Amino acid sequence: MTTIRENISAIRRTLPAGVTLICVSKFNPVESIREAYSIGERDFGESHVQELLLKHEALPSDIRWHMIGHLQTNKVRAIVPFIHLIQSVDSIRLMQTIQKESARISRTVDILLEVHVAREEAKSGFLPEELPAALEAAQLMPNINIRGLMGMATQTKSEEEIRHCFSVIRNLAKANKALLPSSPILSMGMSGDYLTAIAEGSNMVRIGSTIFGERDYSRKAPIENQETITQP
Ligand SMILES: *Cc1c(COP(=O)(O)O)cnc(C)c1O
Repeated sequence: MTTIRENISAIRRTLPAGVTLICVSKFNPVESIREAYSIGERDFGESHVQELLLKHEALPSDIRWHMIGHLQTNKVRAIVPFIHLIQSVDSIRLMQTIQKESARISRTVDILLEVHVAREEAKSGFLPEELPAALEAAQLMPNINIRGLMGMATQTKSEEEIRHCFSVIRNLAKANKALLPSSPILSMGMSGDYLTAIAEGSNMVRIGSTIFGERDYSRKAPIENQETITQP
Protein backbone atom coordinates (compact mmCIF):
# COMPACT_ATOMS: atom_id res chain seq x y z
CA MET A 1 0.00 0.00 0.00
CA THR A 2 1.41 3.35 -0.96
CA THR A 3 0.55 6.31 1.19
CA ILE A 4 -1.25 9.48 0.19
CA ARG A 5 2.07 11.33 0.47
CA GLU A 6 3.81 8.92 -1.86
CA ASN A 7 0.97 9.08 -4.34
CA ILE A 8 1.04 12.87 -4.39
CA SER A 9 4.82 12.99 -4.79
CA ALA A 10 4.63 10.55 -7.69
CA ILE A 11 1.96 12.64 -9.42
CA ARG A 12 3.75 15.91 -8.77
CA ARG A 13 6.87 14.53 -10.46
CA THR A 14 4.83 14.13 -13.65
CA LEU A 15 3.30 17.64 -13.62
CA PRO A 16 4.96 20.36 -15.66
CA ALA A 17 5.37 23.78 -14.07
CA GLY A 18 2.20 25.80 -14.44
CA VAL A 19 -0.21 22.90 -13.97
CA THR A 20 -2.30 23.21 -10.80
CA LEU A 21 -3.09 20.00 -8.95
CA ILE A 22 -6.56 19.73 -7.42
CA CYS A 23 -6.73 16.86 -4.94
CA VAL A 24 -10.22 15.45 -5.37
CA SER A 25 -11.14 14.41 -1.85
CA LYS A 26 -14.83 13.55 -2.30
CA PHE A 27 -15.88 10.49 -0.28
CA ASN A 28 -12.57 10.54 1.56
CA PRO A 29 -12.29 11.33 5.25
CA VAL A 30 -10.95 14.51 6.76
CA GLU A 31 -7.84 12.64 7.98
CA SER A 32 -6.87 11.89 4.39
CA ILE A 33 -7.14 15.56 3.50
CA ARG A 34 -4.99 16.42 6.53
CA GLU A 35 -2.29 14.09 5.27
CA ALA A 36 -2.25 15.79 1.87
CA TYR A 37 -2.35 19.19 3.58
CA SER A 38 0.64 18.27 5.74
CA ILE A 39 2.84 17.99 2.67
CA GLY A 40 1.70 21.30 1.30
CA GLU A 41 -1.41 20.59 -0.76
CA ARG A 42 -3.95 23.40 -0.55
CA ASP A 43 -6.36 22.85 -3.45
CA PHE A 44 -9.09 20.29 -2.80
CA GLY A 45 -12.12 19.37 -4.90
CA GLU A 46 -15.48 18.18 -3.66
CA SER A 47 -18.64 17.31 -5.54
CA HIS A 48 -21.36 17.48 -2.88
CA VAL A 49 -22.25 20.62 -0.98
CA GLN A 50 -23.09 18.95 2.33
CA GLU A 51 -19.79 17.11 2.40
CA LEU A 52 -17.92 20.23 1.34
CA LEU A 53 -19.48 22.27 4.17
CA LEU A 54 -18.54 19.73 6.83
CA LYS A 55 -14.97 19.49 5.59
CA HIS A 56 -14.64 23.27 5.30
CA GLU A 57 -15.71 23.54 8.93
CA ALA A 58 -13.33 20.86 10.12
CA LEU A 59 -10.18 21.80 8.22
CA PRO A 60 -7.72 24.73 8.09
CA SER A 61 -9.05 27.93 6.61
CA ASP A 62 -6.25 28.36 4.07
CA ILE A 63 -7.51 25.42 2.01
CA ARG A 64 -8.75 26.47 -1.41
CA TRP A 65 -12.00 24.59 -1.99
CA HIS A 66 -13.11 23.75 -5.51
CA MET A 67 -16.68 22.73 -6.28
CA ILE A 68 -16.48 20.21 -9.10
CA GLY A 69 -19.85 18.43 -8.99
CA HIS A 70 -23.26 19.44 -10.25
CA LEU A 71 -24.44 22.38 -8.16
CA GLN A 72 -28.11 22.96 -7.40
CA THR A 73 -29.18 26.60 -7.28
CA ASN A 74 -30.62 26.21 -3.78
CA LYS A 75 -27.17 25.17 -2.49
CA VAL A 76 -25.31 28.19 -3.85
CA ARG A 77 -25.85 30.45 -0.84
CA ALA A 78 -24.09 28.01 1.48
CA ILE A 79 -20.82 27.95 -0.45
CA VAL A 80 -20.36 31.45 -1.90
CA PRO A 81 -18.86 32.89 1.31
CA PHE A 82 -15.76 30.69 1.09
CA ILE A 83 -15.56 28.80 -2.20
CA HIS A 84 -12.35 29.36 -4.16
CA LEU A 85 -13.51 28.23 -7.59
CA ILE A 86 -16.82 26.79 -8.79
CA GLN A 87 -15.70 24.62 -11.68
CA SER A 88 -19.00 23.01 -12.58
CA VAL A 89 -21.14 25.91 -13.73
CA ASP A 90 -23.43 24.40 -16.33
CA SER A 91 -26.36 26.78 -16.88
CA ILE A 92 -27.11 30.48 -17.16
CA ARG A 93 -29.67 30.07 -14.39
CA LEU A 94 -26.91 28.83 -12.07
CA MET A 95 -24.72 31.76 -13.11
CA GLN A 96 -27.54 34.14 -12.21
CA THR A 97 -27.93 32.55 -8.81
CA ILE A 98 -24.19 32.76 -8.11
CA GLN A 99 -24.30 36.41 -9.20
CA LYS A 100 -27.21 37.18 -6.89
CA GLU A 101 -25.77 35.37 -3.86
CA SER A 102 -22.28 36.81 -4.34
CA ALA A 103 -23.63 40.34 -4.68
CA ARG A 104 -25.64 39.82 -1.49
CA ILE A 105 -22.41 39.37 0.47
CA SER A 106 -20.34 41.77 -1.67
CA ARG A 107 -18.06 39.06 -2.99
CA THR A 108 -16.87 38.22 -6.47
CA VAL A 109 -16.73 34.51 -7.09
CA ASP A 110 -14.42 32.83 -9.60
CA ILE A 111 -16.06 30.23 -11.79
CA LEU A 112 -15.31 27.96 -14.72
CA LEU A 113 -17.90 27.08 -17.29
CA GLU A 114 -18.25 23.34 -17.68
CA VAL A 115 -18.47 22.22 -21.27
CA HIS A 116 -20.05 19.00 -22.43
CA VAL A 117 -17.88 17.39 -25.05
CA ALA A 118 -18.06 13.73 -24.00
CA ARG A 119 -20.33 11.23 -25.68
CA GLU A 120 -22.23 10.28 -22.52
CA GLU A 121 -25.61 11.97 -22.27
CA ALA A 122 -25.39 11.86 -18.49
CA LYS A 123 -22.53 14.31 -18.28
CA SER A 124 -23.49 17.92 -17.76
CA GLY A 125 -22.20 21.19 -19.10
CA PHE A 126 -22.81 23.72 -21.82
CA LEU A 127 -22.82 22.42 -25.35
CA PRO A 128 -20.12 24.08 -27.43
CA GLU A 129 -22.73 26.08 -29.33
CA GLU A 130 -24.23 27.37 -26.06
CA LEU A 131 -20.96 28.76 -24.80
CA PRO A 132 -20.97 32.17 -26.54
CA ALA A 133 -24.39 33.06 -25.11
CA ALA A 134 -23.29 32.03 -21.62
CA LEU A 135 -20.14 34.13 -21.87
CA GLU A 136 -22.18 37.08 -23.15
CA ALA A 137 -24.59 36.73 -20.26
CA ALA A 138 -21.69 36.83 -17.80
CA GLN A 139 -20.76 40.29 -19.05
CA LEU A 140 -23.81 41.57 -17.17
CA MET A 141 -22.92 39.79 -13.93
CA PRO A 142 -20.33 41.85 -12.05
CA ASN A 143 -20.00 39.46 -9.11
CA ILE A 144 -18.94 36.45 -11.09
CA ASN A 145 -15.57 36.17 -12.71
CA ILE A 146 -15.20 33.58 -15.45
CA ARG A 147 -11.66 32.22 -15.26
CA GLY A 148 -11.87 29.53 -17.93
CA LEU A 149 -13.37 26.20 -18.89
CA MET A 150 -13.71 22.76 -17.31
CA GLY A 151 -14.54 19.52 -19.02
CA MET A 152 -14.35 15.77 -18.97
CA ALA A 153 -13.49 13.35 -21.72
CA THR A 154 -15.64 10.43 -22.80
CA GLN A 155 -15.05 7.31 -20.74
CA THR A 156 -13.35 5.11 -23.26
CA LYS A 157 -10.16 3.15 -23.69
CA SER A 158 -9.51 5.00 -26.93
CA GLU A 159 -6.64 7.37 -26.25
CA GLU A 160 -7.45 9.00 -29.58
CA GLU A 161 -11.01 9.82 -28.56
CA ILE A 162 -9.94 11.13 -25.14
CA ARG A 163 -7.36 13.34 -26.78
CA HIS A 164 -10.00 14.60 -29.18
CA CYS A 165 -12.33 15.62 -26.32
CA PHE A 166 -9.60 17.67 -24.68
CA SER A 167 -8.59 19.30 -27.93
CA VAL A 168 -12.22 20.32 -28.49
CA ILE A 169 -12.19 22.10 -25.11
CA ARG A 170 -8.88 23.81 -25.87
CA ASN A 171 -10.22 24.97 -29.25
CA LEU A 172 -13.41 26.24 -27.59
CA ALA A 173 -11.29 28.43 -25.35
CA LYS A 174 -9.49 29.72 -28.41
CA ALA A 175 -12.68 30.34 -30.36
CA ASN A 176 -14.19 32.26 -27.43
CA LYS A 177 -11.05 34.06 -26.35
CA ALA A 178 -12.58 37.52 -26.70
CA LEU A 179 -14.84 36.75 -23.73
CA LEU A 180 -12.34 34.79 -21.65
CA PRO A 181 -9.34 36.02 -19.66
CA SER A 182 -6.09 36.19 -21.61
CA SER A 183 -4.66 33.10 -19.89
CA PRO A 184 -7.73 31.02 -19.20
CA ILE A 185 -7.80 28.10 -16.81
CA LEU A 186 -8.37 24.85 -18.67
CA SER A 187 -9.40 22.32 -16.02
CA MET A 188 -9.09 19.00 -17.80
CA GLY A 189 -7.84 15.60 -16.76
CA MET A 190 -8.50 13.10 -13.97
CA SER A 191 -6.60 10.09 -12.64
CA GLY A 192 -6.87 8.06 -15.82
CA ASP A 193 -6.32 10.71 -18.44
CA TYR A 194 -4.50 13.69 -16.97
CA LEU A 195 -1.29 13.24 -18.92
CA THR A 196 -3.26 13.24 -22.17
CA ALA A 197 -5.10 16.34 -20.95
CA ILE A 198 -1.83 18.14 -20.20
CA ALA A 199 -0.53 17.25 -23.65
CA GLU A 200 -3.67 18.94 -24.99
CA GLY A 201 -3.18 22.12 -23.01
CA SER A 202 -4.64 21.48 -19.57
CA ASN A 203 -3.26 23.70 -16.82
CA MET A 204 -5.40 22.30 -13.98
CA VAL A 205 -5.87 18.61 -13.25
CA ARG A 206 -8.40 17.09 -10.85
CA ILE A 207 -7.06 13.88 -9.38
CA GLY A 208 -8.85 11.71 -6.83
CA SER A 209 -8.39 7.95 -6.85
CA THR A 210 -4.69 7.96 -7.74
CA ILE A 211 -4.08 10.03 -4.60
CA PHE A 212 -6.60 8.69 -2.11
CA GLY A 213 -7.25 5.19 -3.48
CA GLU A 214 -10.52 3.87 -4.80
CA ARG A 215 -13.42 5.76 -3.27
CA ASP A 216 -15.44 3.94 -0.65
CA TYR A 217 -19.00 4.82 -1.60
CA SER A 218 -20.31 2.89 1.40
CA ARG A 219 -18.51 5.28 3.73
CA LYS A 220 -21.76 7.18 3.77
CA ALA A 221 -20.47 10.53 2.75
CA PRO A 222 -23.16 13.10 3.42
CA ILE A 223 -25.24 12.96 0.31
CA GLU A 224 -27.83 15.55 -0.43
CA ASN A 225 -31.46 14.75 -0.92
CA GLN A 226 -32.52 13.80 -4.38
CA GLU A 227 -29.04 13.66 -5.69
CA THR A 228 -27.73 10.44 -7.04
CA ILE A 229 -24.06 9.72 -7.05
CA THR A 230 -22.81 9.00 -10.50
CA GLN A 231 -19.86 6.71 -10.40
CA PRO A 232 -16.97 8.37 -12.24
C1 LIG B 1 -14.44 12.51 -9.10
C2 LIG B 1 -14.01 13.54 -10.07
C3 LIG B 1 -12.66 13.67 -10.45
C4 LIG B 1 -11.57 12.76 -9.97
O1 LIG B 1 -11.68 11.51 -10.55
P1 LIG B 1 -10.53 10.39 -10.37
O2 LIG B 1 -10.74 9.50 -11.54
O3 LIG B 1 -10.78 9.73 -9.07
O4 LIG B 1 -9.22 11.07 -10.41
C5 LIG B 1 -12.34 14.70 -11.32
N1 LIG B 1 -13.27 15.55 -11.80
C6 LIG B 1 -14.57 15.46 -11.47
C7 LIG B 1 -15.54 16.42 -12.04
C8 LIG B 1 -14.99 14.44 -10.61
O5 LIG B 1 -16.29 14.35 -10.29
